[in-house]
Amino acid sequence: MHPSTIAIDGPAASGKSTIGAAVAEKLGYLYFDTGVMYRAVTRIALARSIPIENEAAVTALADQVQIDFLKPTVDDGRQYTILADGTDITWDIRSRAVDANVSPVSAYAGVRRAMTQQQRRIGLQGRVVMVGRDIGTVVLPEADLKIYLDASEEERARRRHRERVARGEPVDLAAVRQEIRKRDQIDSSRAVAPLKQADDAIYLDSTGLDVPEVIARVMQLVQAGQLVH
Ligand code: C5P
Repeated sequence: MHPSTIAIDGPAASGKSTIGAAVAEKLGYLYFDTGVMYRAVTRIALARSIPIENEAAVTALADQVQIDFLKPTVDDGRQYTILADGTDITWDIRSRAVDANVSPVSAYAGVRRAMTQQQRRIGLQGRVVMVGRDIGTVVLPEADLKIYLDASEEERARRRHRERVARGEPVDLAAVRQEIRKRDQIDSSRAVAPLKQADDAIYLDSTGLDVPEVIARVMQLVQAGQLVH
């Protein structure tokens, strides 16, 4: 049998979403991008002018807001449709404002508690590829296969820059690199569930590999997992 729960963690723009979605599709599993939930809370806080530094208000929002994942409802290249209290925020959660504010939001213990509970419930149903920062360490420590997907900071910045330019958002490469570095620094130094490789995760460096090559490596690990599980 294939591993049923697959956790992919790693730093910003390491390719987790692209690889996770492709692997899930190949296996016929659910693809669950947990970063979307932190992004959704951040996006709604910004839209409602809730100050990001107001931990109590942001945490209350995380407890109340209903986040729904749907199959794509619009054919515009999206992997899924995300609703927050019924409003389509699929693209809004990818804005630079959200990028700049999501790490402080996701460092709040109460926000993490609310999100982790929901993620774990979905993960335990199995046949899922879950991507994030703390899946292998906190959300699903019992995952059948854990991968820590990494790439050099330079390459990750280049990939994210290319994505933004393709979306018609001209931005300086150096600025993108700086944003990524800052987010990683906050994510890996926070007190609760910091970004780190689980002891039993397999480290996969995708620097210099193209997308099909990384997918092939992950599928090899999935096949190898058959012997164990
Ligand atoms: O993966 P993505 O870049 O969309 O994640 C956005 C942010 O959400 C991360 O920088 C991190 O602060 C937070 N996050 C997290 N735990 C997860 C997934 C994302 O703290 N499991």
